[in-house]
Amino acid sequence: MAGNIKAIKGTKDTLPSESYKLQYIEQAALDTAKAYGFHEMRTPVFEYTELFDRSVGETTDVVQKEMYTFNDKGDRSITLRPEGTAGAVRAFLEHGLFNEPLPQKVCYLTSCYRYEKPQAGRLREFHQFGIECFGAASPVADAEIIALANSYFNFIGIEKLAVEINSIGCPECRKKYSAALKEYFAEKQGELCETCLSRLERNPMRILDCKSPVCSEIAESAPVVLDYICDDCREHFEKLQSYLDALNIEYVVNPQIVRGLDYYTRTVFEFVSLDEKTKGLVLGGGGRYDGLIEELGGAAMPACGFAMGLERLLIAMEESGIPFPEAPKCNLSIVTAGENALLKALEISSDLRSAGYSVNIDTVGRSIKAQMKYANKINSEFTVVIGDNELESGKAMLKSMQDGTQTEVELNAFEEVFERAYLDKAVAAFGETDFSTLTQVDLNNLF
Ligand code: AMP
Repeated sequence: MAGNIKAIKGTKDTLPSESYKLQYIEQAALDTAKAYGFHEMRTPVFEYTELFDRSVGETTDVVQKEMYTFNDKGDRSITLRPEGTAGAVRAFLEHGLFNEPLPQKVCYLTSCYRYEKPQAGRLREFHQFGIECFGAASPVADAEIIALANSYFNFIGIEKLAVEINSIGCPECRKKYSAALKEYFAEKQGELCETCLSRLERNPMRILDCKSPVCSEIAESAPVVLDYICDDCREHFEKLQSYLDALNIEYVVNPQIVRGLDYYTRTVFEFVSLDEKTKGLVLGGGGRYDGLIEELGGAAMPACGFAMGLERLLIAMEESGIPFPEAPKCNLSIVTAGENALLKALEISSDLRSAGYSVNIDTVGRSIKAQMKYANKINSEFTVVIGDNELESGKAMLKSMQDGTQTEVELNAFEEVFERAYLDKAVAAFGETDFSTLTQVDLNNLF
């Protein structure tokens, strides 16, 4: 490859000037999960291909067209995970978590890989926040998962959002529904794409999420699964709705939602943006997968979960002008002249950093003027200059870069004086705050 090597199409670098945004939404996700009793699980980025064939399903778009699959040097078929649930279930079984108190509630932040056509909000490497609840059959578990996702979006400040729910029934309902779909699509055989033609026999429901424009237009008028669900599944779905009502969560029943992965049973749901600029963007989705644990070799055990894309969330936040916390600041730049001053700066910076402050010192050997310029550019809140005079007198001037005020500080008691100046500034800013104008994010930052 000639010239500079570029990032692979559909991947995205996160630069230091942006990474604090991701850190913020990730930390908020983990905090929200913790409030509902979900704790983090980490699984490998690659798994045996068979895991995804058996869980996501061989006739899905993800498995048929989108997986990054390769043979490793030991000639084993390996796949970069296209989603998080399969790996979480594999780990749940492998580590005997079914012997722990049930339900087991896990969450994760992971990268996922799908060979899709890159576009806004659709990447080949993307990141998901996901939660899984293993061992709860009741629709309360589904309601809790929807509530968790909903409170996360609320916390972040995404207001224009629809919660759409549906039930796709159990395998028994699915048999009847598949037969109805087969009949419907058989009449349009000539127009279906090749992949969907093969799905017609094996899994006609997957035709519903084909991305080809012709197939999706045909799918729009297909029978809907809600008309085919059994009494038990209907009761489960109705109970879910009564729990969502009790939680004051507004939702709409959308009988068109089926989700693109084979493992779902009964409840499926999506969080869809209603903001003008990102209308229709699916920020997250999930549902119940009562058959998956057994399918992957465990005992029959109900489960449900949710996953959302972090990149899509960032797009939605930026497009709707939702504020992020302030970018992290450098609290103090120590500007030095000469070797002895540098030694003092090393000592002071080490103490302040241990106390939790972000401190910058000169590592380039620049002039005082150039160091001041750099301190300004990196938005230092305070600066102090240490040269021969300051070393001799043991005193220096701590300068607030915001208003230029200066405070004398003893070099041997630096931390104490700096801390006071820093807190005074924070208290003054707090005192001037008009709380009635603050957004949720501002409040999150303050407290
Ligand atoms: P899924 O695993 O397909 O149910 O997707 C769950 C969520 O992951 C979606 O709602 C998106 O927010 C996100 N997502 C899925 N595929 C992509 C992709 N190719 N690029 C970016 N985000 C994605």
